[in-house]
Amino acid sequence: MIDLEDAGTTPILQQYRAIKAEYPDAIVMARLGDFYEMFGADAQEAAQILGVALTGRGFGAAGRLPMCGVPHHASTTYIRRLLDAGRRVALWDQVGEVVAGKLVRREVTRVLSPGTATEADYLEEARVARCVALHSSGGRTGIAALDTAGGELLLIEVAGDWDAAALREECERLDVAEVLVADDGTELPAGLLPGTLRTMLPPAFFDASRARDRLRGVTGASAFDGLGLNGVDSAVRAAGAVLAYCERARLTLSGGFVHVRQRSERSTMRLDAQTRRNLELLIPLSGSGASLATLLDRTRTPMGARLLRARLLEPLTEPLLILARHDAVDALVDGARLRETLGEALAAVRDLERLVARCVQRSASPRDLGTIRQACAALPAVQDILSRVTADELVAAAARCVAPDGLAARLRALLIDDPPATARDGGCVRPGADAELDELVAGGAGARAWIAELEGVERRRSGIGSLKVGYNRVFGYYIEVPNAHRDAVPPEYVRKQTLVGAERYITADLKERESTVLGGRDRALAREQQLLEQLTAEVADHAAALLDAAQAAAIIDVHRSLACVAAEEQWVRPLVDASGVIDVDQGRHPLVERALGAGRFVPNDCRLDAAERIVVLTGPNMAGKSTYLRQVALITLLAQVGSFVPAARARIGVCDRIFTRIGAQDDLSGGMSTFMVEMAETAAILRQASGRSLVILDEIGRGTSTYDGMSIAEAVVEHLHEAPHLNCRTLFATHYHEMTGLAARLHRVRNARVDVLEEGDGVTFLHRIVPGGADRSYGIHVARLAGMPAGVLVRARQLLADLERERPVAGSGADPPDQLSLGIAVAPQHPVVEELAQLDIDDLTPLAALNKLAELRERAAP
Ligand code: ADP
Repeated sequence: MIDLEDAGTTPILQQYRAIKAEYPDAIVMARLGDFYEMFGADAQEAAQILGVALTGRGFGAAGRLPMCGVPHHASTTYIRRLLDAGRRVALWDQVGEVVAGKLVRREVTRVLSPGTATEADYLEEARVARCVALHSSGGRTGIAALDTAGGELLLIEVAGDWDAAALREECERLDVAEVLVADDGTELPAGLLPGTLRTMLPPAFFDASRARDRLRGVTGASAFDGLGLNGVDSAVRAAGAVLAYCERARLTLSGGFVHVRQRSERSTMRLDAQTRRNLELLIPLSGSGASLATLLDRTRTPMGARLLRARLLEPLTEPLLILARHDAVDALVDGARLRETLGEALAAVRDLERLVARCVQRSASPRDLGTIRQACAALPAVQDILSRVTADELVAAAARCVAPDGLAARLRALLIDDPPATARDGGCVRPGADAELDELVAGGAGARAWIAELEGVERRRSGIGSLKVGYNRVFGYYIEVPNAHRDAVPPEYVRKQTLVGAERYITADLKERESTVLGGRDRALAREQQLLEQLTAEVADHAAALLDAAQAAAIIDVHRSLACVAAEEQWVRPLVDASGVIDVDQGRHPLVERALGAGRFVPNDCRLDAAERIVVLTGPNMAGKSTYLRQVALITLLAQVGSFVPAARARIGVCDRIFTRIGAQDDLSGGMSTFMVEMAETAAILRQASGRSLVILDEIGRGTSTYDGMSIAEAVVEHLHEAPHLNCRTLFATHYHEMTGLAARLHRVRNARVDVLEEGDGVTFLHRIVPGGADRSYGIHVARLAGMPAGVLVRARQLLADLERERPVAGSGADPPDQLSLGIAVAPQHPVVEELAQLDIDDLTPLAALNKLAELRERAAP
């Protein structure tokens, strides 16, 4: 196979090469007749992604050029696959007339990328696809995320540089389809949005003053200061870049379409990747199970489904805001009939957001316009149904459910009842709606009737009984007379075509009618097109109002969905406050409960307060420890999302973050061992948690030997208990029953165990949590590598030594250990060890840490 450059010089290949040079980072799809063809490296790459055959075309001695093609009529499916694989696609289409023997004029009509493809064919209904620009300066990193199919421009700014954990977490919950960064030597960390298309832009795209102008322009604000975006310069510059990029991709961003929203780090809970995964927020851990998103989703509109997903990843931390959401769910939870009628009305609002976006981009179909008409009619119905509800959030949202004045009437007057998916064949406009169109259609009808009668009229006039009137595509309408009657042909007939046994004629009158019929059709179609374009523009003019109504409908949809779940699954309204307490009666794990079937799940209580901060939960494997831990985390998260919770009663003091360390999954791609991953995750928790966090730790230290693991586990609990900035609510599950000794020396630690029933040789798991307590490698090394705080490491080493001295592991499984006298840290002897213990790792850059390590090693060497 040969490269594109080495292939022949046919005109089409020369042109293709020129286009390729213009769009080097896109797969260029060339329209050749009924196919889109790709050549050279593009063909090789696309064939693999698309699973189509890679063929080739010979160029004599030069060799064969790789080629592959997809049928034009099915191209959207293939293009979507390329976009999903994170590729950019340039469509090089035929725009001129096809004339035999001449090269058709071709143009790049569209450059599609994962972040800028707004066509319905390329989008997932329940998911937002955001185009995200990142900019880092002055120790802060700005994120600007534009939902090109909905118009929302979200600005977030986090402290730190490209490596900041907050940046990764924010990006991970944004559903990023494409990421834009300046081409100024910036290297994003490999772990940041892996697999997402990265587009490098000239640094000028991130220019601060141009960014302000752009933001002012798209929002229609008279002054930048009015947007309230002061003090987030990095985010503003990123916003400038994303807007400039989307404009270049020929997306329409004006006309009230873009609406800016700012998210501050403080108002929502940050959720890291483990926690999202462990709590199965979006993706179930096992293939067969359900995710929390699936369980909660009873929405009736795609907009509602998208908002629910977004809210799930953005739990609130402000009790008053959470309370307002609970009020809204509360207002709907008891009214099954109300929910039912509300659901029906909402369903009719459909995906108003994306429908309007398609009008703004001028890509809406007649059917889309019909759906918008239906949505406009449904909005007042939604409002009406909620007229007696008093919850603030619902009242406010209902007030926004208004269709722009007269728009529905305009759509109704102009569009037929059930408009088709394409305007190609005409017939979308209601007869009587437009005089000009009616005239074109009526004129055509008159001429058609005249032609239909022509045969009879001419037979009578000429006396030729076998005379026929017909039509073919080349000659149009004609009058056919068999040769036998040639003499009787009227003089005004003009001969047009000679057949074996007959002649075909036309007349001036027939020609005139013909042009009325054929030209009239074209003119009618053109007029109709014009009317539809006007209508689309009218909808786009109302984009801001319609999008606001769409958002309000989505909010109502989400509250209704949560009310449905609460009613059907018997969830209760939690009390959320700033108390720092977690107090749950009869809590359940919603996903395990559903998997087990009705009545088989054993509910459990949970109490964490100022006096009891840490629960050490012991019990054998498979007893239900992990389920219990997750259930407490899920109840907390659900409460802060604004949902009711699976419990008989719950009081939740808001958590600033929920951390989970559950199970061990090898990060094979990153080349880390199970234990290393476990230690790295635990270290991250100890670094990032605060006194207001909830920490869930499941089987810490399991990945190494017993003494080793237990020592690390105990040291971690001690650290959580003692470190002044921590003392956070913690659930700690372990199968090392020796850990129960901690409660005796750490006064805010309480023991709990999972009840087991022993009968003869067999054991039955009761899955009941009851008070009280109930069975080792070189793990500490790995813990240090993972960046565990120095104090914890030193303490773990001491404990390990003590354990090895005092508690032989053989035959363990018997009594809880004696109270250990390990309250005070014994000063280590060697000066290097001492210095290690004093080292504040949090203050060290990786490079400084390496230098320090080299220095200490030098001094430690004998
Ligand atoms: P452990 O963490 O102690 O190893 P798990 O939490 O993974 O145990 O639970 C093991 C299994 O026990 C679960 O898959 C579930 O089927 C069942 N189980 C756990 N908790 C309960 C409960 N409260 N009620 C009923 N079954 C439960």
